[in-house]
Amino acid sequence: MSERPPSHTLTAFTELDDGKIEIQWADGAVTTHPTSWIRFNCGCAHCVDEWSGRKLLKPSEIPADLRPTVAEPVGNYAVRIAWSDRHDTGYYPLEILRKMPVAPDDWDTYLRGEQAWPDPPTDPDD
Ligand SMILES: [Zn+2]
Repeated sequence: MSERPPSHTLTAFTELDDGKIEIQWADGAVTTHPTSWIRFNCGCAHCVDEWSGRKLLKPSEIPADLRPTVAEPVGNYAVRIAWSDRHDTGYYPLEILRKMPVAPDDWDTYLRGEQAWPDPPTDPDD
């Protein structure tokens, strides 16, 4: 078994009171994201079209009271998160979770459905 770098080793996964999740890493870094943002960035086949990379989940479909119900390690390289919206195939490789960009400043407007999440640019050869 190869050693994981501390920057990609999760030491704590904490649900905060303000609808955010705080993740602590073995190198001392702490990343904090809105719960809905982590849910939205689920990379499973139910949430992302594997060919186009287009998100199949709309931010406005994420319940306002969404919470993680399960967060458990998958080996030492990923974490499986099940959500209170009954989505339980969320699988987050730790490298991706660590590098997850911060939510946009206007993330709330996407959650409220005031704007649609843009699709990725399509390849003209498709
Ligand atoms: Zn998913």
